[in-house]
Amino acid sequence: TETILKVDDLKVWFDVKKPGAMPWTRPRKLKAVDGVSFELNAGETLGIVGESGCGKSTLARAVMQMVPIEAGSVVWLGDDLTGLDTRRMRPHRKEMQMIFQDPLASLNPRMTIGQIVAEPLKTHFPGLSAAKVKARVQDVLDTVGILPNLVNRYPHEFSGGQCQRIGIARALIVDPQLIICDEPVSALDVSIQAQVINLLMDLQKETGVALIFIAHDLSVVKHISDRVMVLYLGNVMEIAPAAELYDRPLHPYTEALISAVPIPDPVLERQKQVMLLDLDLPSPLDPPSGCVFRTRCPIAEPGCAQVKPVLADKGREHLVACHLR
Ligand code: SF4
Ligand code: MG
Repeated sequence: TETILKVDDLKVWFDVKKPGAMPWTRPRKLKAVDGVSFELNAGETLGIVGESGCGKSTLARAVMQMVPIEAGSVVWLGDDLTGLDTRRMRPHRKEMQMIFQDPLASLNPRMTIGQIVAEPLKTHFPGLSAAKVKARVQDVLDTVGILPNLVNRYPHEFSGGQCQRIGIARALIVDPQLIICDEPVSALDVSIQAQVINLLMDLQKETGVALIFIAHDLSVVKHISDRVMVLYLGNVMEIAPAAELYDRPLHPYTEALISAVPIPDPVLERQKQVMLLDLDLPSPLDPPSGCVFRTRCPIAEPGCAQVKPVLADKGREHLVACHLR
């Protein structure tokens, strides 16, 4: 298999000031992504899981060069993208598309869905005839299950699930090699979530597109992912083939997330979550020393505060960052 994306020791740090801070106060560093490395193969799906604020979206945006990179590198199809500006990213952006969490908000309300879906095609292939664009729009709308005769309707005339299908059509129209899906189903009803995930899996089978699928919940990425990466406070805790990760989780954080996988009763679910991850997520502005998970870790030892664990290879493509595993 061919590696299409190689992310190496990537760091994205933001300068932030406390609200109401004096103008001369030095900003503090928020280490949103703090040394993340992974590779993605052609046609593969990598699930990325973690709580809100763990750096998932920032990591996705860093791959697309939508945020400034502090250190490390992003290599795409052999080209180093690190730090490229919008203009220099344009030829690569054709290959890597993105879909977002809030389907309606990510579609321009003043454009018809035909115009919205056509836009990336017109940007990247400005010479294409109107007839060819129209035919391709009809084609991708049909692929995602939106009736092509609805092209002149506006986004607000569609449901959340339909809007996400339109977002997927817009990503597909340029025939990308990678679609980064940033919590694409988090805002949708559970029944609709499965439809959108199945659609993405079907499209992948048909086109061979690779996916990075971000979610805050391990159960959402279980069926779609070939491999799963677990993030915590901007650090990779564990990465493994999906079956291996769910059957033999090695990191205490992954274990807690798996035990907290939502069960249908919302009240029980909440109690279970509270039981297993009962301590608050520390501020990313002030992460714990040593292992960033240690303030919530049920098996932490004194040494965990001293030395940050590195991702170690445990065989079977299973990597974990924990001194005790
Ligand atoms: Fe827990 Fe220590 Fe492992 Fe971190 S390194 S996960 S604190 S046991
Ligand atoms: Mg996010």
